Amino acid sequence: TYNFCAGPAMLPADVMLKAQKELINWNGLGTSVMEVSHRSKEFIALAEQAEADLRQLMHIPDNYKVLFMHGGGRAQFSNIVNNFLGDNGRALYLTSGQWSRAAVKEAKLLVGEEAIDELTIVNQDDGVKVVTLPKLIGDKNDYRFVHYCPNETVDGIEIFENLTSPWPVIADMSSTIMSREIDVSQFAVIYAGAQKNIGPSGLSLVIVHEDMLSLPSLAQSSVMDYRVAAANGSMFNTPPTFAWYLAAEVFKWLTALGGVKAIAQINCQKAQLLYQCIDENDFYVNTVAVSNRSKMNVTFQLNDDALNSKFLAQAQANGLVALKGHRVVGGMRASIYNAMPLSGVEALVTFMNAFAKQHSA
Ligand code: PLP
Repeated sequence: TYNFCAGPAMLPADVMLKAQKELINWNGLGTSVMEVSHRSKEFIALAEQAEADLRQLMHIPDNYKVLFMHGGGRAQFSNIVNNFLGDNGRALYLTSGQWSRAAVKEAKLLVGEEAIDELTIVNQDDGVKVVTLPKLIGDKNDYRFVHYCPNETVDGIEIFENLTSPWPVIADMSSTIMSREIDVSQFAVIYAGAQKNIGPSGLSLVIVHEDMLSLPSLAQSSVMDYRVAAANGSMFNTPPTFAWYLAAEVFKWLTALGGVKAIAQINCQKAQLLYQCIDENDFYVNTVAVSNRSKMNVTFQLNDDALNSKFLAQAQANGLVALKGHRVVGGMRASIYNAMPLSGVEALVTFMNAFAKQHSA
């Protein structure tokens, strides 16, 4: 079965098999990793290795903290506000789809409409969605940060250019992290829910420049305070240890594969194959400008909506599952994160070509 779910998404088969083998006897301890103390020397070693591997994979500079937090991606929507907007701070949010808009909603809920400025950066040009990054100019004290979402998981819109800004840039990289090389030093904070390219849901990763930790924060829960997390090695309270273990295994898997540079090449190949299939068949439509087509979440519609259920049922019968688009936008979505092998996309393309042929007049 090839699982195209947008999240929780498939994990690398090798990681799952190793985890299965280690389930009741991890590290020779005779217990599962789930059953040992997070303060044991074995778990601390796992945590240190995970951080070292991630730093190497993403070339994270030393003046950034790496935090393994609770609460998934959405928890960071509120954490960035609570951690950086104390003392009447203001922020600018760029919106390009469902998730960046959800981040705005959460921020406004916490600090009110007046503290948050919103700028839409996606336009419809002849029915095609295209992102234009604005030239951001202003006084560096205008905003504590500017927030955006480089890959809109629901809409299938990805922003590949770097944002230049007088204000620290915070990026929600939940669905693009480690899929291609990025320059971490261009960002003040990168965060990501784990359930796409990292590991199981519930865990989230925060990569934060040390300078950000001296901004005034709002009164907040200690568990969600980045300073507390940084001071305690992400172990102020009991962390989601099994998710952390799987993330560590994913980092090892990616490192063995040749790192982010190597997976980025495979990701390009997969995306190219799928978009080519969509473009070559009048039967399928993608409404995102070529320059903003997501390499992780490929959205498409069937020309004839009435065939949607049949498409999904036949795909499933062929071992191609979870292709239904997000409930808000409809249509189809194939999420092809790092763990999706090229063979999965090849199987999908073969199916899509045959389905189109079968149903074209
Ligand atoms: N941000 C993006 C870009 C996402 O794709 C998602 C979930 O799919 C989230 C945030 C929310 O993550 P979570 O469900 O872990 O809170």
